[in-house]
Amino acid sequence: SVPLSFFGGIGAASRHGILVKGSNFLEVLTRINTVAFDKTGTLTQGQFTVSEIKPEAPLTKQRLLGIAAAAEQHSNHPIARSILTAYQGDMAQFSIHDVHETAGHGIQATINDQLVVIGNTQAMAENHISMPVTQTDCTTIYVAIDHQFAGSISVADQPKPDAKAAISTLKQLGVAHTVLLTGDNRSVADQIGHKLGLNHVEADLLPAQKVSKIETLTLAAHTAQHRVAFVGDGINDTPVLARADVGIAMGGLGADAAIEAADVVIMDDKPSKIATLIQIAKATQRIVW
Ligand code: ADP
Ligand code: MG
Repeated sequence: SVPLSFFGGIGAASRHGILVKGSNFLEVLTRINTVAFDKTGTLTQGQFTVSEIKPEAPLTKQRLLGIAAAAEQHSNHPIARSILTAYQGDMAQFSIHDVHETAGHGIQATINDQLVVIGNTQAMAENHISMPVTQTDCTTIYVAIDHQFAGSISVADQPKPDAKAAISTLKQLGVAHTVLLTGDNRSVADQIGHKLGLNHVEADLLPAQKVSKIETLTLAAHTAQHRVAFVGDGINDTPVLARADVGIAMGGLGADAAIEAADVVIMDDKPSKIATLIQIAKATQRIVW
């Protein structure tokens, strides 16, 4: 039977805007020694702005941005939304067919009878697009038109205001491993990892690779009776939410699939609420035992 006080814990959590989908998760939360995070929308605001547009000649910046925006029109990825916001031109000049998005990778479409591929370096490699050697400190997506490299667009996002404090509070609560699991590039991943004080950073991950990283972390934690939480926003990480001992979703963005896959939903999207939740779980445990 479930100890009554765990229901008290659920009530306390809900007063902080944290929805816990069962008292068993409070017990699991007292044993968390590893918290893994998605980046975009979880530790960062998930609101990119376009910072640089580098077309290959003879394309103009406006033309490259327009083609990218045309392809990204039906994507709900935060990068796609930033490109659409940046492009203020005419969209009717593009006739768009056969749009296909690959999670954590990019998007392709036929635009004015040309095959357009947009995404990260892996997306380019997979489509055998040869690119100039590129160095980027930003989140950068690459564009190819009819198998020719056509340029790049860089975007930038900011950490959430409470992200750094959230990580340091977790460490004080005995969470020995704070981990970033991101599909973004190594440079961006390392910068944010350093800025926020995360212990470990994994970059360039596809959604399926995020799942295997969580499995590895889980095996390691379980050997010492510890447990693993994953925190995500539901964009490309729903399978990871489902696989962790405790899947914690940022609920404010309203990704239904994430809210459904998660064990815990943080309604106001603040990473600091994870520490609040662990504190509630530990306080509840003291009352029960
Ligand atoms: P994160 O782990 O930061 O949440 P994602 O897994 O959502 O990142 O995406 C990883 C990378 O895949 C992005 O940084 C981007 O390079 C590429 N990507 C994903 N979706 C798109 C898209 N719709 N358009 C362009 N690039 C995309
Ligand atoms: Mg994501």
